Amino acid sequence: VDNGQSKRDIIDFRQKHLGKTLSLAYQQPLKIIRGQGAYLYDEQGTPYLDMVNNVCHVGHCHPKVVAAGQQQMALLNTNTRYLHDNIVQYSKKLLATMPEKLSVCMFVNSGSEANELAFRLAKNYTSSNNLLTVDGAYHGNTNACIEASPYKFDGPGGQGAAKHVHKVTLPDPYRGKYQGDNTATQYAEDVNEVINNIQCKSEKVGAFICESIQGVAGQIIMPPGYLHAVYQSVRDAGGVCIADEVQVGFGRVGHHMWAFETQDVVPDIVTLGKPIGNGHPMAAVITTEEIANAFVNGMEYFNTFGGNPVSCAIGMAVLDVIEQEQLQQNALTVGNYLLDQLQNLQQRYPIIGDVRGIGLFIGIELVNDRLTKEPATHITAQLVEFAKAHHILLSTEGRYYNILKIKPPLVFNRDDADKFLTVLELGLQQL
Ligand code: PMP
Repeated sequence: VDNGQSKRDIIDFRQKHLGKTLSLAYQQPLKIIRGQGAYLYDEQGTPYLDMVNNVCHVGHCHPKVVAAGQQQMALLNTNTRYLHDNIVQYSKKLLATMPEKLSVCMFVNSGSEANELAFRLAKNYTSSNNLLTVDGAYHGNTNACIEASPYKFDGPGGQGAAKHVHKVTLPDPYRGKYQGDNTATQYAEDVNEVINNIQCKSEKVGAFICESIQGVAGQIIMPPGYLHAVYQSVRDAGGVCIADEVQVGFGRVGHHMWAFETQDVVPDIVTLGKPIGNGHPMAAVITTEEIANAFVNGMEYFNTFGGNPVSCAIGMAVLDVIEQEQLQQNALTVGNYLLDQLQNLQQRYPIIGDVRGIGLFIGIELVNDRLTKEPATHITAQLVEFAKAHHILLSTEGRYYNILKIKPPLVFNRDDADKFLTVLELGLQQL
């Protein structure tokens, strides 16, 4: 039983006393007071299947993660200026999941902070702050991250690209400038043009930042070979390649731990966040010895909370649970099942223009007309409300908000998938 404040009181307080740009999900917002596995519970005790939260990766309030945090919190929490086992053990375990040349970890507290640090590392290494970023992308909320995020600087309240920021075409095989899976070369050629333009001004390329699968830009699987070709061009021009794995890392893609592996590349810098602490605020930057060395210029990089014993204990528990419960395998099996079933639905419902995804990172793009691909924005929003009425939580994504975004905790199982498929079909029939 919830003895807390009414929803109305909470909404009124938020509007008056909390940041004025907070948003709320749903026409009638939910009050959520408990979470377990892939489910959230409202103040009445009603369970909602959570297909949105890619942060509580191994399940909401996983007991092993909670216990690890509680135990370490009761013993010690301090900063990296003392020797401690946790940061060493955790780094070893995390680095063991990465390609060998990525051998240095730096710990921070959020995905934004990780990208912010990645930009500093790149700048120190290349002596250039010219940044290439993919159209539609989001990389975080700090000044430098907003500058790296076309989703923000080209969106409401944005001020366009800063001088040192260069947008590259969104490699979207469904709706993009070039369509189909055989378009990597064409999209990569667009990047070469951007690089040429920088070089024509006698300037150098600094960094290229890219999510290994596009999240905010629309759950987009880039054409095979895209990152391989672009990384080559960026490196040939003296730049470094940053893989933002904040949304897509930690086994979500099923057959790999890291989504960059699906594009067969090894980045120079990888940024991690969201799922890394299952909801505990922590994040990390992983890079090469060379790039880490170039950051040594006499100035200390100190981060009050980054790498503290509690965060490391929690991070360790998350990695342990992924392994012990074979969640990467689950992402693959359940993800493949869901993709198959969605493709079946697509045959029967013309409004489903595209179904795409890897593991438990899936997008369903809805269109009013399969030929013109006119976005079915309104229906997508209605479907989200319809699913909520049937106790399933979903979100939308993409420039036109016509993509149903699926990224549940990795404990999401086949029964959960069936529950969702039934409600989705009902919604498609009724709306
Ligand atoms: N990169 C990506 C791809 C993200 O999706 C996000 C958060 N949505 C961030 C970075 C920023 O992470 P945080 O909100 O933890 O600062």
